[in-house]
Amino acid sequence: MTIFQKIIDGEVPCDNLYEDDDVLVFRDIAPQAPFHALVVPKKPIRSMAETDRQDQELLGKVMLVAAAVARDHGLEKNGYRLVTNIGEHGGQTVFHLHVHILGGRMLRGMG
Ligand code: 5GP
Repeated sequence: MTIFQKIIDGEVPCDNLYEDDDVLVFRDIAPQAPFHALVVPKKPIRSMAETDRQDQELLGKVMLVAAAVARDHGLEKNGYRLVTNIGEHGGQTVFHLHVHILGGRMLRGMG
């Protein structure tokens, strides 16, 4: 079981920013930017590499929730970044699909 599953199940606390039946958003424990949150679908999908057509609606929702949370935290004016890491070379460390929201400073480069 991943740490994110434990957070979803309420076994590990998080700084919760948004939650509904499908998605949980919480602040990253080791922020890489002034605003750094993770948008996590509750369905246990390892990464984007393991998604299929059945997940189309859920994945659309994850991105829409990410944009809404960014908007609510004032990131729209200056911009922000949405990132999902996939596997070892992608830098993924928690194998439960999530989208990072990074903002509040100038982000340079791609890794
Ligand atoms: P990845 O490297 O898989 O794309 O991102 C995993 C992220 O999860 C990292 O940015 C890391 O700081 C964050 N993270 C790992 N464990 C925890 C935790 O227990 N709580 C929270 N809030 N974030 C975590």
